[in-house]
Amino acid sequence: MHERVPAEGGDSFFLSSKGNRDMTAVYQGVDGAYSQLVLGHFLREHGIEMPTVGLPSFREMATAVAGSRADAGVIPIENAIVGTVREGYDLLAEFDLVPVGEIQWRTDHRLLGVRGAELRDVREVLAHPLVLAECGTFLSGLDHARAIPCEDTGVAAREVARGGNPAIAALASPVAASIYDLIELAAHCSDDPRTYSRFLIVRPRHTNPSNPLLRLPKSGKRKTSLIFSVEERTGSLAGALAILAERKINGDKLESKPYLGHGTERVFYVDFDGDADDANVADAIAALRTECKTLTVIGSYDAHVGEPIGRNDDPPKALVELVREIAPPVSDSPFPRVSRSANPPGTMLQIGSVRVGDGEFTIVAGPCSVESREQILSTAHAVSERGAVMLRGGAFKPRTSPYAFQGLGWEGVSLLAEAGRATGMPTVSEVMTIDQVERMASQIDVLQIGARNMQNFDLLKAVGRCGRPVLLKRGLAATIDELLAAAEYILSEGNPNVILCERGIRTYENATRNTLDLSAVPVLRERSHLPVWVDPSHGVGVRRWVRPLCRAAKAVGAHGLLIEVHPNPPEAKSDKDQALTFDDFGTIMRDLDRIETWSHPQVPVS
Ligand code: PEP
Ligand code: MN
Repeated sequence: MHERVPAEGGDSFFLSSKGNRDMTAVYQGVDGAYSQLVLGHFLREHGIEMPTVGLPSFREMATAVAGSRADAGVIPIENAIVGTVREGYDLLAEFDLVPVGEIQWRTDHRLLGVRGAELRDVREVLAHPLVLAECGTFLSGLDHARAIPCEDTGVAAREVARGGNPAIAALASPVAASIYDLIELAAHCSDDPRTYSRFLIVRPRHTNPSNPLLRLPKSGKRKTSLIFSVEERTGSLAGALAILAERKINGDKLESKPYLGHGTERVFYVDFDGDADDANVADAIAALRTECKTLTVIGSYDAHVGEPIGRNDDPPKALVELVREIAPPVSDSPFPRVSRSANPPGTMLQIGSVRVGDGEFTIVAGPCSVESREQILSTAHAVSERGAVMLRGGAFKPRTSPYAFQGLGWEGVSLLAEAGRATGMPTVSEVMTIDQVERMASQIDVLQIGARNMQNFDLLKAVGRCGRPVLLKRGLAATIDELLAAAEYILSEGNPNVILCERGIRTYENATRNTLDLSAVPVLRERSHLPVWVDPSHGVGVRRWVRPLCRAAKAVGAHGLLIEVHPNPPEAKSDKDQALTFDDFGTIMRDLDRIETWSHPQVPVS
């Protein structure tokens, strides 16, 4: 029975993931990494049944094999575009791993995104650094996207799938696409579609006698890899190479790097045809030992024969074609993605079970601020019973005075989420800073950008990079065009799920809190395909005037209303003058049933 040495440092991968299976093959990465595909292929080809386990780094993988905690491993050593993977050779040397076979694997990278994603909307590309280097030309054509290095192609694809954000894509294999249910946004992304990587399959030097890698028959073509350094003098490299040439040994690869810490000396990575057991190779190695300053024989292994594995059968897409596809839309409009012509039928959002857009009239209700568990739960039940389908409530409040109630913060967010779950309603809450975006998005269904932040462009970009729907309120002194340009920021970062909201603007009129600009509704609906809501509460600021403005907003063609409701308005910690009682809200809801919404004819956009 094969004795396993428990791993040090708490690494118990083989105990937890494989039960009592005898043999294990390890690779660096997660499902879908090229290393896993290569290792799986090698084992299948040789009829070896061994479970494969992914480890976080090449070093951990090499340590596992060297310590006989794993019976086989795989190490990349070269890429046809980028060159030697020095870490690979160095680990082979340092851990004294025994190479048994070489595989050349076509690295046919595809740009993968979530369903519904489009190439022109991609803003971030995740990939292994080697892959980023292989795809340099493609990535420089994607000038609106940032490249983000990550551990391996499997992790890149997995993160894209988990995030669900159409603005984030991964460079990975078509296999990773099917594992993580991603779609191809571009094919053949490497600088040359013929590119491939070389991998070595390795085993421990002192291994279990039943390890099937010990009994692999040698194929016709063998290769040997070495690392050496030579004295720093004229002709020393030529002398070493002459040793090979004189023995009719065909060199396959030669690459040098500085020998750090050894002056101007250099280290050479060399591969050549032949097996260390062949008489001429054995003789050459003996001669090199005398000629070279240092020499590490990595070993001899079955060479890959024929074309690299994997095919690239679709004709490579011309770069110009790709660049045309990904160029920003050519338009004179300052908001090409938001304008009606980008989506003439109009955008329909699905938020939980709630639809938002043409033909729908969505009522969102709740307090200005979440104040307590009891307050938000009682309001949620009351508004839901009376016809609201979404729940609002501020947890981070933009208050004019720093001494006014600032909201309950994350506690308020949790309470709002709890009330949403209790009533089955999706939730809406305001994000004030970039660092709140991700955490808010993990708990709340719609991120509100408040009037005071409508032109906080960095915040707009941050919600644009997140997949959650955004409720964008019109700024206190913003024109309709400025509201549309603010929405464009969000769409241009890859998030198409935006709802515009008219909430009143500053005018000279001071009889009302703001002037609810209902004329913005038909204008926005004509200029943009995005849904338009109205917030009469902040628009008028006085409880008894909210009702007529709700009616007017529906009549003028709003897709929904945002209404503040409180169990006890005079006690509300913010916006008490405009909050409705539950009864007021019920009356308005009944009233609205009798109002017909104006269905705007589709008007061509100028
Ligand atoms: C709110 O909805 O409570 C709010 C603060 O809105 P606005 O940003 O429109 O003032
Ligand atoms: Mn408010």
